Amino acid sequence: MRAITARLLWPGLLGLCIAGYWIGWQSGHAVLAFNLTYFGLAAVLLVLERVLPYEQSWMPSDGQLFNDIAHTVLNKGLGQVIAATVAIAGVSQAGPEAASGWWPGHWPLWAQVSLALVVAEFGLYWAHRTAHEFRAIWHWHAIHHSVTKLWIVNTGRFHFLDSLWKTGFAMAVAWVAGAPKDVILWVLAITTYIGFLTHCNVDMRCGPLNWVFSTPELHRWHHNRDPIEGNCNYGENLIIWDVLFGTRLLPSDRKPPVNIGCKDAVPETFLGQLAYPFQAWARRDFWAKKLG
Ligand SMILES: [Zn+2]
Repeated sequence: MRAITARLLWPGLLGLCIAGYWIGWQSGHAVLAFNLTYFGLAAVLLVLERVLPYEQSWMPSDGQLFNDIAHTVLNKGLGQVIAATVAIAGVSQAGPEAASGWWPGHWPLWAQVSLALVVAEFGLYWAHRTAHEFRAIWHWHAIHHSVTKLWIVNTGRFHFLDSLWKTGFAMAVAWVAGAPKDVILWVLAITTYIGFLTHCNVDMRCGPLNWVFSTPELHRWHHNRDPIEGNCNYGENLIIWDVLFGTRLLPSDRKPPVNIGCKDAVPETFLGQLAYPFQAWARRDFWAKKLG
């Protein structure tokens, strides 16, 4: 029974969220629908983490609850400012019919959103991969990798520079491609749902979906303390660019290590974490390629 539930959870929960957002989007209440599905999914996953945990040793507190939430709120706030700026600047148009350049605005919405996910993921992939491979950028990404357990609450624990870096890459690619604003909003909603699912400490088995999407099974390998093995599975929503560029990792003969984290001395406090990359740059720890 537990095995069946574990197989149904990932596609079931993502499907429910997408259906909820679709209903709201159709009736002109997309923002309300997004908030309901966002907080609804968070609540369900928090319960499932108690009932169907993947890893028991990740259940006790790691003392980072305030920091995790503070980083998340700061990033969400920044995201709102960016969205408002884009809207005021008139860079992005509303409906799919407002597509520009070569973007296939005549395609059905689901096909446009699928294409936009693939296109945006190319930006997300390289933003994430460069953050792992170059020390100057790693300093801000280390905040995300300093967690010693995975659970839904540290999904949004990113240094704000990390969020700007990733959003910049993804938005630049989507903007060059000419995707309309509605399609981009769909991608942002799906990215949020998949992010929660990827990070949660819930027993989920994704089977063949592990070849298409970024799943918890794949992402746990990414949080490996060993940087040689952890430099893998960079995809945020989809894993297809990892497959293409040879960075997908999902061994079938062993489980990913439970003792996750990174070797950097990331401060325990929120302000210390915000200051961390700036202090590293002040030490001129800047250009060397990251060796781990
Ligand atoms: Zn990473």
